[in-house]
Amino acid sequence: MIKRTLLYYRILNYQPENLALLNSHFNVITLPDPDHDNKEILSGIDVVLAPLGYYYGKERIDLCPKLKVIASNTTGTPHIDERYAGQKGIRVISLKGETDFLRTITPTAEHTWGLVLAITRNTVPSFRSVCEGHWSRWPFGAPKMLSRMSLGIAGLGRIGRMVARYAEAFGMTIRFYDPYVTGADIPDITRVRSLEELALLSDVITLHVPLNPETEGLINRDFFSKCKNGSYLVNTSRGRVVDTGALIEALETGRLKGAAVDVLDDEFERGFEKSVTAHPLVSYAREHDNLLITPHIGGSTVDAWRLTQEHTIKSVLRYLSEEE
Ligand code: NAD
Repeated sequence: MIKRTLLYYRILNYQPENLALLNSHFNVITLPDPDHDNKEILSGIDVVLAPLGYYYGKERIDLCPKLKVIASNTTGTPHIDERYAGQKGIRVISLKGETDFLRTITPTAEHTWGLVLAITRNTVPSFRSVCEGHWSRWPFGAPKMLSRMSLGIAGLGRIGRMVARYAEAFGMTIRFYDPYVTGADIPDITRVRSLEELALLSDVITLHVPLNPETEGLINRDFFSKCKNGSYLVNTSRGRVVDTGALIEALETGRLKGAAVDVLDDEFERGFEKSVTAHPLVSYAREHDNLLITPHIGGSTVDAWRLTQEHTIKSVLRYLSEEE
């Protein structure tokens, strides 16, 4: 196979073995990030590995006359104009639809459980109190054992299903709401017909829906008004699924006893890293103990990075060899 030219951005942080794999199959051009693109480089590339946070749309694509593949080792591709790429005969390769492979990638479901446990058991505030020199359990009692709580899963797809299976081990009552899934191949899980019903019945609600026009702001004031008093919300899906103002209100009023989120609504905005402390949820969390935030680390284990990067590179290689 002829060596094609591939544009790699350092912010992608590929693992060393995957960088070696890239170098053995491609002439790799490395730039820090797409802000450093220039016309000359773009005019010569066959493949680009597109990082989240930088848009690969008409403007950029039109500067790449030789481009054959835009690849991303992510399940979502909000940073790629797939339709325009398709019109130009460019193949978009991502992890979307790679069902069998993705079944083996479990860290987001695992982190979801880390958040459920941490927020219901007051792990972070109790740790903080120890660091401040206190040794008392009394301020940190969880309202109930998990085995006496009910879990409501919104979105019973790849991650929602894994979360449900782990919930079985905790002996929780498990319900799900997913208008596109009629039955579940998981014993002891009950389907509810509306999000409202899920809100009314759940002690802990966990979100695993994709972000799209239907789900943007799905979790809003109306939803919180239906929630059990003193329930918990966990969001490892996408920040914009939750109305930030409504979440803060629900935490302030005690409608929610706690929330834990791995995703924020503005996190994909350019320059977000520089203004994190100004985000309303981060400001709130700095002053209150009932909101836990992690910086989108759900899928972040070194082996998952390595495997998803490798899978993406191999998909690109397979596509190019079929093309020849
Ligand atoms: P998936 O496509 O396998 O499952 C999504 C499920 O949501 C599907 O079953 C679908 O029918 C359901 N759904 C769609 N619209 C719905 C609605 N309005 N109400 C209820 N259910 C609805 O997706 P997945 O791989 O399980 O990913 C779930 C979410 O997790 C996505 O938002 C994804 O971006 C996010 N994610 C986050 C991380 C992280 O690091 N935090 C990592 C991977 C994925």
